Amino acid sequence: MNIHEYQGKELLRKYGVSVPRGYVAFTPKEAVEAAKELGSAVTVVKAQIHAGGRGKAGGVKIAKSLDEVRTYAKELLGKTLVTHQTGPEGKEIKRLLIEEGCDIKKEYYVGLVLDRATSRITLMASEEGGTEIEEVAEATPEKIFRETIDPVVGLTAFQARRIAFNINIPKELVNKAVRFMLGLYKMFVEKDCSIAEINPLVTTGDGNVMALDAKLNFDANALYRQKDVMEFRDLDEEDSKEIEASKYDLSYISLDGNIGCMVNGAGLAMATMDIIKHYGGDPANFLDVGGGATAEKVTEAFKIILSDENVKGIFVNIFGGIMKCDIIAEGVVEAAKQVGLKVPLVVRLEGTNVELGKKILNESDLDIVAAGTMADGAQKIVELVG
Ligand code: ADP
Ligand code: MG
Repeated sequence: MNIHEYQGKELLRKYGVSVPRGYVAFTPKEAVEAAKELGSAVTVVKAQIHAGGRGKAGGVKIAKSLDEVRTYAKELLGKTLVTHQTGPEGKEIKRLLIEEGCDIKKEYYVGLVLDRATSRITLMASEEGGTEIEEVAEATPEKIFRETIDPVVGLTAFQARRIAFNINIPKELVNKAVRFMLGLYKMFVEKDCSIAEINPLVTTGDGNVMALDAKLNFDANALYRQKDVMEFRDLDEEDSKEIEASKYDLSYISLDGNIGCMVNGAGLAMATMDIIKHYGGDPANFLDVGGGATAEKVTEAFKIILSDENVKGIFVNIFGGIMKCDIIAEGVVEAAKQVGLKVPLVVRLEGTNVELGKKILNESDLDIVAAGTMADGAQKIVELVG
C-alpha cells in the first residue's frame, strides 16, 4: 500500500528524520492559511498523488508570496497531473502539501528496499539525487552504493557512515546523515515497509540533512498490525474495482485489455492470461476467486468484471478441485440475473462437480459458449471480441 508524501513525512518525523515543516491542504483557502502559519519567505506547493515525477510534470511550485500560494493552489487542485509514473491517464490532484521552502545545497538519493535475491533489506544511496535512480543505475551504475543489512544486527552506524562517505556527504554533516539513515531504517522495520525512498535527501545552507521527498510503500500482508498506517489509506488513489474486490477477499488486479477473466488459482489465472495473449487477445483483469469461495463471492467477482466498461467478452476458466464447478455456475448465473450479461461469455469447466455445473449453466437462459479445453476457450473468446 502507498501513502502520500505528507503522510510519509509525518511518520519520518516521529523517527527523528528531519523534514521541512508543512501542512496538508484540500482547498486554496487552506493552502493560504497553511502558508501563513509557516511564515517562511519561500513556500513550496506540492501536488499529493500516489506517483513520483511530479517536479518535472509541473506538480511542485515555488511560491514567494501568499498570492502566489493561492494562485498555484487554485491551478493544481482538481487538475489531472500526468507524470511518467501515472500512465497517460494521469491522476487528479485532490490534496496539496504546503511546505517551507528549503535552502538546498545538494541533492542525494537514499533508499531502503527489500532485496529478494538476498532476502535482506538493502540500503542504497547515490550523490546523484533529484533525478530518477533508474536513470542513474542505467547511465552511471558506479555512482550507486549499497549496504546489505543483517536482520539480526540491523543497520549499523558503521555501514551508514560508509555510505555517507561514499556519496560524499560533507564531513561535518556525516553524523547527521548517519542519524537520518538509522531513523529511516528503524521506521522501515517497525512499520513493515517494502520501500522507503528519499529522493532527494538534501544538505541545506544552514547545515542540516533533510528529506525533501518521501515515497513509502507498505507490505499489505502486515497492515493488520499497522493500524496507524492503515489510517493513511486514500481510496481515491486506488482502482474502484480493486477496492470492491478487496471487500470480498478476492485477488483482483485491473489491466488494460478487454477480455474479463474469472479463474480459480493464481497459477491458472496467470496461464489463462498468457494463453489469451498467445491467441492475440488482451486480458482486462487478473482474478483468482480462490479455493473456498462461496456462490455469493463468485457472484460479486462476476459483477466486478461486468461493471468494467472495457470488458467486451468474458472467459471463465475453472479447474474445480476444492472449488466446485456448481458453485461457479451458480455465481455466474446469479450475477448475470442481477446486472445483465451483454457481452459474449465463454466457459470452460473441469473437475469437481463439473456435470452439475454444466447443468446449471445449460438450464439458465444465458447465452454461453462452451469450451472443451483452455486453448479452445481462449481462441473462442478472442474471436468473439474481435
Ligand atoms: P517528485 O520526485 O515527485 O518530482 P519531489 O518532492 O522530489 O517530487 O520534488 C521535486 C524537486 O522539487 C526536488 O528535487 C527539489 O529540488 C524541489 N523541492 C521539493 N520540495 C522542496 C522544498 N520544500 N524546498 C525546496 N525545494 C523543494
Ligand atoms: Mg522526488
